[in-house]
Amino acid sequence: MKLYNLKQHQQQVSFGQAVRQGLGRNQGLFFPAELPQFSDIDALLEMDFVTRSSKILSAFIGDELSEETVSQMVDSAFQFPAPINKVKDGVYALELFHGPTLAFKDFGGRFMAQSLAAVTADSETDITILTATSGDTGAAVAHAFYGMDNIKVVILYPKGKISPLQEKMFCTLGNNITTVAVNGTFDDCQALVKQAFDDAKLREDIGLNSANSINISRLMAQICYYFEAVAQLPKAEREQLVISVPSGNFGNLTAGLLAKSLGLPVKRFIAATNVNDTVPRYLKTGDWAPKATVATISNAMDVSQPNNWPRIEELCQLKGWGLNQLGYGAVDDQQTAVTLKQMYADGYLCEPHGAIAYNVLEQQLAADEIGLFLCTAHPAKFKDVVDDILATDIELPVPLAKHNAMPLLSLESNNDFTAIKDILYSVQPTK
Ligand SMILES: *Cc1c(COP(=O)(O)O)cnc(C)c1O
Repeated sequence: MKLYNLKQHQQQVSFGQAVRQGLGRNQGLFFPAELPQFSDIDALLEMDFVTRSSKILSAFIGDELSEETVSQMVDSAFQFPAPINKVKDGVYALELFHGPTLAFKDFGGRFMAQSLAAVTADSETDITILTATSGDTGAAVAHAFYGMDNIKVVILYPKGKISPLQEKMFCTLGNNITTVAVNGTFDDCQALVKQAFDDAKLREDIGLNSANSINISRLMAQICYYFEAVAQLPKAEREQLVISVPSGNFGNLTAGLLAKSLGLPVKRFIAATNVNDTVPRYLKTGDWAPKATVATISNAMDVSQPNNWPRIEELCQLKGWGLNQLGYGAVDDQQTAVTLKQMYADGYLCEPHGAIAYNVLEQQLAADEIGLFLCTAHPAKFKDVVDDILATDIELPVPLAKHNAMPLLSLESNNDFTAIKDILYSVQPTK
């Protein structure tokens, strides 16, 4: 598969290069030069999750990795289901939180780890993964790479702005995983990561690699669960499907639109955000005007400069899909809480991110349409908020309970590139 840099179309790379580099020159995102198409979607939907996902991913990367390798990668990465759960007539939750860190980022994180291991299998140099997280990416990346030889992981997160449980989930591992609490916002953390990638010497010295939602391998993995969702729907409900995606950096929505470009029948996507609503305002007014990031109870979506957006624009342009075909909506904390309560009263325990997607879907779903909303995290991951709103005491699933009992190992840093650079060099083996 060839990919091009969205900021410099003449820079073309292979899948292997795109996975290793993360970003192209000028911090440009990579985008596939050719999009595969599946003519017999029904046959694809008949297959089991792993077989189908291997087929889909091989259509992208089969020229670089054998079908057998891809199938082994998928098998190791997707060791947990992505079930749909009927919430009411014609409305389904797609539960993406049954992986080891109880969030959808397990799919992308684990496939990314497999991809990086596969494309660097013959290389001599160590690799350093540097990523910024607003919550769940960190856990997924840390767990996906934990204990892998020759791969160091450094994760930046905004100090005090992620839930204590989220923090416990990835800041307790040690070994090849280093976590840094930065005195700043998530956008500051992302800016530090970008600065590191701009530093050619640093990049070279430590084999810098990014593993957040900008890495193309993550998005490709995420395409697969959209197919899995549709495969589980009754056949009569597969047309007229509207999918609502709770969005922060917009990787998940990009993957959904890619799934549609491969032939998955989706009538419409909805971009659902919290009050960090740069995209909904843009879709409404045509004006790209990010504001300062605001902290919310759906903190994994507290992003005001979503870095995957250029890919969505590119894809829509290539496919001739007007941006006006995208549904959108922003939900504040108060409405999120109201929705969470309603859902609970109707028999479904959710958490703020899923509730936002449900809220916007409910407002915009026509009577003849079938709705699907993505549940991106297990409710227990946001236990404090959920218990507080619902007056519950939800139980911690085993992986959370285990990490919750372990001490935090994070370093602390100011929002200062020099300090981060020192940390990056310090985690390298002394040669
Ligand atoms: C990361 C995350 C999101 C946002 O996903 P994007 O792909 O960045 O839009 C939504 N919900 C949860 C729980 C997340 O961790």
